[in-house]
Amino acid sequence: MPARINYRYYPFIATQKEFPNLFIEKPSVLVPGNSVLRDKTIEVFKTIVENGEVPVEAFSDHDESILVYNTILDIVKFINDKRIANRVALAYAKTASKALNEEKNEVLVAIASKLGLKVKFDASNFPKIPLVVTEQRSVRVLFTTCPFSLPIQEYIMIVTPRLMHDQSYALINHVVTGGRVFLDRNTFKRLLEEHIYYSILLQIERTEPPSTPDFVELVEGVKSTITSYQEKLINKSIFLELEPGRESLDSIEKIVVEELFPPCIKKIVDLINTGGNPSHLERFNLAAFLGYIGLDVDDIIEYFRKTPDFNEKIARYQVEHILGMRGGRKKYKPYNCENLKASNICPISGQCPGGKNPIAVYKYNIRRTLSRKKKRGGDQVEKSEEAAGGI
Ligand code: SF4
Repeated sequence: MPARINYRYYPFIATQKEFPNLFIEKPSVLVPGNSVLRDKTIEVFKTIVENGEVPVEAFSDHDESILVYNTILDIVKFINDKRIANRVALAYAKTASKALNEEKNEVLVAIASKLGLKVKFDASNFPKIPLVVTEQRSVRVLFTTCPFSLPIQEYIMIVTPRLMHDQSYALINHVVTGGRVFLDRNTFKRLLEEHIYYSILLQIERTEPPSTPDFVELVEGVKSTITSYQEKLINKSIFLELEPGRESLDSIEKIVVEELFPPCIKKIVDLINTGGNPSHLERFNLAAFLGYIGLDVDDIIEYFRKTPDFNEKIARYQVEHILGMRGGRKKYKPYNCENLKASNICPISGQCPGGKNPIAVYKYNIRRTLSRKKKRGGDQVEKSEEAAGGI
């Protein structure tokens, strides 16, 4: 019996073949002419952009969800803003991921197959891999089964953009046999979420929005939401000039000059500024770095405000944790250069001068800039020369 899929949560897998009635006319032509669907689309789009989640409860059935989803794809393509596209794709992927927690294995397989993955599910509980669980007074070894498998190429394709920084996704940490990578349910679900995100971005890229007056009017209806979201991002960016006369090395930890960030940190900041979606490790290292050079929680959060899945409550909790204001009260440092290279976060092949970690390199860049500036008698900092982080 085919798996029962609730399309309210997964409208991105609905095809014209399965729902011919919904696609008689292009949804983005049909929806703007129907006042109920048009208002619902505006409301759903607003919630996605402002809160980063899809209000599934707003849909009375899966037809509505599919029609609104396809209309939103066209709106996003029409607007042509990478940040909005990422935010919409992530909101749908995260909402789907939550729903997947409650789904049976066959539903996970059905959704993955509909998105083009050659997934296999083997209920024979093979292979089993040992998992060492350390508790307060004991160490236990549990055996976890890996019933899902993907061809190696598909696994690498999904993992490479964002998950490759995390060693737990390295092939060496998985059972690989017969050209397939075997995965437990949680890992497979995480990969599926990632694949959903990229599939939606691809759907946005491929869709062709109509130019009917009703559709253009609908886009006008969501413009205020987009404008206020964009304004929030622009007004909050942090940039402090290297102040003349601030030569005391004691104050170096409180100087923020993005141009002098080492290339690894600058790469993450640039990724966020261009609407990209950094990995967890990149986010951790950026927050730890900014905390160590003296930024407070609010300032650090402003950097993350531009990420497509930004949620202030979650971001604040995580930044406070990294800064040692919660949990074990330990203030985390960014990784050292060796680990940043092993995690593929370091973008250069050699070593930056000044030290073996980004903080030391940043301090070195500042010292060098200040002493050059002193020599030149207070000339302007040559920003372009320093932008390469001393390489
Ligand atoms: S060498 Fe170290 S500081 Fe320089 S870019 Fe690589 S990780 Fe960053």
